[in-house]
Amino acid sequence: MELSAGSGMACKLEFAVQMTCEKCVNAVKSSLQGVQGVQDVNVSLESETVVVETTLPALEVQKLLESTGRRAVLKGMGSTKSQNLGAAVVMMEGPVLGVVHFLQASEDTCVIDGTLDGLSPGLHGIHIHEFGDLSRGYESCGAHYNPDGNTHGGPGDHDRHVGDLGNILAGDDGRAAFRIANERLKVWNVIGRSLVVDEGEDDLGCGNHPFSKITGNSGKGLAFGIIARSAGLFENTKKICSCDGVTIWEERDCPIAGPGRKNVQTTYAHL
Ligand code: ZN
Repeated sequence: MELSAGSGMACKLEFAVQMTCEKCVNAVKSSLQGVQGVQDVNVSLESETVVVETTLPALEVQKLLESTGRRAVLKGMGSTKSQNLGAAVVMMEGPVLGVVHFLQASEDTCVIDGTLDGLSPGLHGIHIHEFGDLSRGYESCGAHYNPDGNTHGGPGDHDRHVGDLGNILAGDDGRAAFRIANERLKVWNVIGRSLVVDEGEDDLGCGNHPFSKITGNSGKGLAFGIIARSAGLFENTKKICSCDGVTIWEERDCPIAGPGRKNVQTTYAHL
């Protein structure tokens, strides 16, 4: 199972961080200094951005940055290579809400980083499905994305669906913050498809249930969304959302989706 936080290939995370002086810059730098999994930190006071080269999930880095008392907003995820190979984002909806970022970190490795809130504690299956159709919620998303005609399996198996990402782990607070590295997935093949997180644990094809070799028997979908192309690193220069004038700092206090987001609901679409 590829659940581990802080493993796999490093990527660059670009955060907007509220900074007004050198004191801010130093506070931000020291919040990340010596942290395992943080490989490089680049702070620009002028553009109020912090670029962190890391193997840690974005939420962990955001928490460290915000431990300085400053707001931090993830603006983009990029490869440590100079070339931008592709990135995507999914706004997850359903009873469970969240945001998941995809980054093609190299030709071989796709990094999937996300945070979901409102899950029951424990393991939950996560899969890419064939269709980007939410007209009937997760039920219209089709089967697991499976271009090779394989049987269902776990992310470490050779014989598995390309869309089989295994399980994510939610803590007692119902939050799952995860970072998965996947060698078979390519961002450009999954844009326009959907991502679904299920109510139960994926048995990775090893159970006795008739659905084990088809879906992992992980039950119904609790969170789902369409995988959409997103800005790569440094492509998103905006500090104020043009649709309603809400700054990204104010957005930070809004829920990522749902009724409480009614005034700023489209802002993530152009992040
Ligand atoms: Zn599958």
